[in-house]
Amino acid sequence: MELLDGKSLSGELIDSVKLEAEKLKPTLAVILVGEHPASMAYVKNKKKACERASIGYREVNLPTDIAQDELIAEVEKLNQDDEVTGFIVQLPLPDSIYVPEVIRSIDPKKDVDGFQAYNLGKMFLSSEFEDLPPATPSGIVKLLDHYDIPIQGKEVVVVGHSNHVGKPISVMMLNRNATVTTCHIHTQDLVSHTKRADILIVAVGKAGLITGDMVKEGVVVVDVGINRNDDGKLCGDVDFDSVSGKASYISPVPGGVGPMTVAALILNTIHAAKRQV
Ligand code: NAD
Repeated sequence: MELLDGKSLSGELIDSVKLEAEKLKPTLAVILVGEHPASMAYVKNKKKACERASIGYREVNLPTDIAQDELIAEVEKLNQDDEVTGFIVQLPLPDSIYVPEVIRSIDPKKDVDGFQAYNLGKMFLSSEFEDLPPATPSGIVKLLDHYDIPIQGKEVVVVGHSNHVGKPISVMMLNRNATVTTCHIHTQDLVSHTKRADILIVAVGKAGLITGDMVKEGVVVVDVGINRNDDGKLCGDVDFDSVSGKASYISPVPGGVGPMTVAALILNTIHAAKRQV
């Protein structure tokens, strides 16, 4: 079994854009609403990655009780700000705010999280049109490519069908000619699907959902989940001990998909800046 080491690949990718960033002088802005602890940790990692890549960074901190139209007004300000070449609205947002409405207000050319309908729609056409793909799925593809893991013709099973991870990674796998099955909370007999997977991508948010008896020998496992176990330690959705015994490759949590998401955001930030020159 080999680990899919997202941490070191992420570092290499971030370092690889430094020279280009020094020429382009992009700035990434992050809108952070409230003080959600996990969001604050993610934002801190994004800031550190910008510093490492010589990308300008700006944070817009807003109160939890901000109204939806006030938040959209902040998005509009960044849409109009020529210094900001890309920005994200860190999720989750408070329940009082309808996320799709906020995402819809982001200028697609600055949408470096790749959540805007225009960028998601382009992704449907083919891999050539994945200009600003959603960061987590994009990071997963880069991780598989780095380890020369073939995708074409493989049985790829995705568990989770969120708009930000499960659905777009399913499309990106289809773009690379995999046979894709997308499972979710209403899937009957999950194990009958996971057992067929050559590549299993799990993005649910439930520690220990996938156990060794649910996978076949030699499977490639990408664990997207971020959870805390009973001891308060970070863990994924996959029971690492039982699954790693059967897997040919497995991504660890932490150190797998998380850092790759940050790297993909940095690459999107460079790409968006290039298109605005
Ligand atoms: P989400 O809550 O939007 O979606 C969860 C998905 O899991 C849904 O499609 C749901 O139908 C499915 N699901 C729930 N219970 C299930 C079950 N028992 N069997 C099969 N499917 C089930 O989640 P999300 O935003 O896609 O995130 C999923 C996980 O990935 C979370 O732990 C999140 O923190 C993590 N995440 C990690 C990164 C990263 O960079 N590593 C990025 C985004 C999300």
